[in-house]
Amino acid sequence: MARHFDYLSIGAGSGGIASANRAAIRGAKAAVIEAKAVGGTCVNVGCVPKKVMWYGAHVAEAIKYSKAYGFDLEQKGFDWGRLVRNREAYIERIHGGYKRGFENNGVELIDGFARFVDERTVEVNGEKITADHITIAVGGRPIIPEIPGAEYGIDSDGFFALEQQPEKVVVIGAGYIALEIAGVLNALGSETHLLVRGDRPLRHFDVDITDALLERMEKDGMNLGKGFITDRIEKDDDGKLTVCSKDGESITGIDCVIWAIGREPATDKINAEAAGVKVDAMGYIRTDDYQNTNVKGIYAVGDITGEAQLTPVAIKAGRLLAERLFNPALSDACMDYSQIPTIVFSHPPIGTVGLTEAEAIAVHGKEEVKVYKSQFAAMYNAVTPHRAMSTFKLVCYGPDEKVIGIHGLGEGMDEILQGFAVAMKMGATKADFDATIALHPTSAEEFVTLR
Ligand code: NDP
Repeated sequence: MARHFDYLSIGAGSGGIASANRAAIRGAKAAVIEAKAVGGTCVNVGCVPKKVMWYGAHVAEAIKYSKAYGFDLEQKGFDWGRLVRNREAYIERIHGGYKRGFENNGVELIDGFARFVDERTVEVNGEKITADHITIAVGGRPIIPEIPGAEYGIDSDGFFALEQQPEKVVVIGAGYIALEIAGVLNALGSETHLLVRGDRPLRHFDVDITDALLERMEKDGMNLGKGFITDRIEKDDDGKLTVCSKDGESITGIDCVIWAIGREPATDKINAEAAGVKVDAMGYIRTDDYQNTNVKGIYAVGDITGEAQLTPVAIKAGRLLAERLFNPALSDACMDYSQIPTIVFSHPPIGTVGLTEAEAIAVHGKEEVKVYKSQFAAMYNAVTPHRAMSTFKLVCYGPDEKVIGIHGLGEGMDEILQGFAVAMKMGATKADFDATIALHPTSAEEFVTLR
């Protein structure tokens, strides 16, 4: 007889793990199926290793400007391999934590690749497993374009597998991943070229923030190629790479090319059609607000749904789904996908929640929108020769100036935004911000002292 569960998640990434644990805590017999490492993209080839590398870059920057703080340091080298080993050991410990969590909660972890057989059954390693409720949480993977020589480049997974630091690197793309990887490599001393198709990276972010980012990138020695449409990559006799654009520009002598042009859903091999689950033209499995797919008893959470591709979004959606299914007190629980704050771990980090100025004007009209912004040299930089500016901005709406957008670029922004996002979610107005006593001296206080 087939093994049977109340709740089964296909994929042990952020969404799958969170939903299965919560289902088990609520009394369900739960399992997760995972073909690769537990933790999915975030833990293994995403947020976690990225943040460790970002901290490494942060240390490099601190050493660079330490003289202004009175230190007389001699940097004898930088051991990329040691950083990578320590990072991977940390990730191993996280794997252990997840496994202990499963044991404590009574979640079964099944190692293998799951394919649907019908709407209640999947097959893993030749075994048929049935469940009353099945969640698809298989996430996504990086896109590699179909152009000549594209295979000479690596993707973000390849970046995390690098055993040596490339001396000269080209990162192609304009989103979170391109900016974060290029920023780390640049700060750690690689000659870094970031190639974007348009006039800037993060084109959908508030323009004041990306203007400030461009200034910081230039100051920090990053080479930005604008309007660069990559046509082909060539491998030269010495093993180095050349990236060529449609317009005949080229960058030569490259050790490593990294594609960071977006991610695609990994739905193609799970045989969703056997269960009758609709997959859209782009490969996403769309759900309603309750994570329901078109098939009763089959749900989807995380990157596969085409909603904001962010770990906390997948975790929240997964937990709410489990509550709805197994906790009678929360039988109407559903995800609110509005006002999702995010951080880009650039140098310095960018934080954003709500509407940009342009979006606010498009929605509410220019006369209804009031913007407050400030540019200042954070104290940390102000005493060094690296007098780089931070930019903070509030977008407000209507006569009571409800805060509908918070944007910032600057040291500490990654830790500043969370609390302000709570205030915005609660409907805070500019007057509420003004009524809050500033924390001094911090960068965060700018948000409550804007004029
Ligand atoms: P994104 O979709 O964010 O950005 C990719 C960008 O690359 C596009 O917007 C496009 O920008 C550009 N692009 C697309 N195709 C090409 C091409 N052929 N050549 C050159 N440029 C191209 O993808 P990412 O892979 O950066 O990230 C995926 C998702 O992962 C993000 O949306 C985010 O939700 C999540 N993420 C979040 C992080 C965080 O929270 N800190 C960190 C990393 C990822 P344009 O049109 O301007 O050229």
